[in-house]
Amino acid sequence: MKNLFIIFLKGIYTNTLRILFAADRVTSKDIKDSILQGKVKYPEVLNDESCIGCGGCENICPVEAIEMEPLKKPIELVKGYTKSERPKYDPLKCIYCFWCHDYCPIYAFYGKPGAIHPREVGEFKADPSKLLEEPIVLKEKKIKEIIDTMAKDASKYFEEV
Ligand code: SF4
Ligand code: SF4
Repeated sequence: MKNLFIIFLKGIYTNTLRILFAADRVTSKDIKDSILQGKVKYPEVLNDESCIGCGGCENICPVEAIEMEPLKKPIELVKGYTKSERPKYDPLKCIYCFWCHDYCPIYAFYGKPGAIHPREVGEFKADPSKLLEEPIVLKEKKIKEIIDTMAKDASKYFEEV
């Protein structure tokens, strides 16, 4: 009985600290305020500098969370190749499959910011003008894997609700 009373007193003490001083709260006040005000900032997922604007991520995304948008000022990355679009990402549609990451030739999507990616490759920053000096070489097996995956009908994986 005495023990129960001590637990009861401890509970009151802990909860009073929580109410008055937000003690041991996991969500910070800043995060809580931004949620309440509808101003949640999503992490930047695209390494814009490295992206060559090929549109592969838009093609591979199974839920159309990526849409290529035209650049106001197209950038000539190398002679004969101009980047004219960049991916626009909708975090509310994203299901975090990370196909955009895996099939991006530059790994420009979901590098370090995609912390839960099971195949985290770390930060990857590339100079596209150098990358495009030489053609990107992929093994035949990898090309087949990409073609197979891209040819799959996404409706096999998801059900309409
Ligand atoms: S993020 Fe990658 S796949 Fe998407 S447009 Fe840029 S380079 Fe291409
Ligand atoms: S993680 Fe998957 S769902 Fe999200 S943008 Fe990339 S391909 Fe689309």
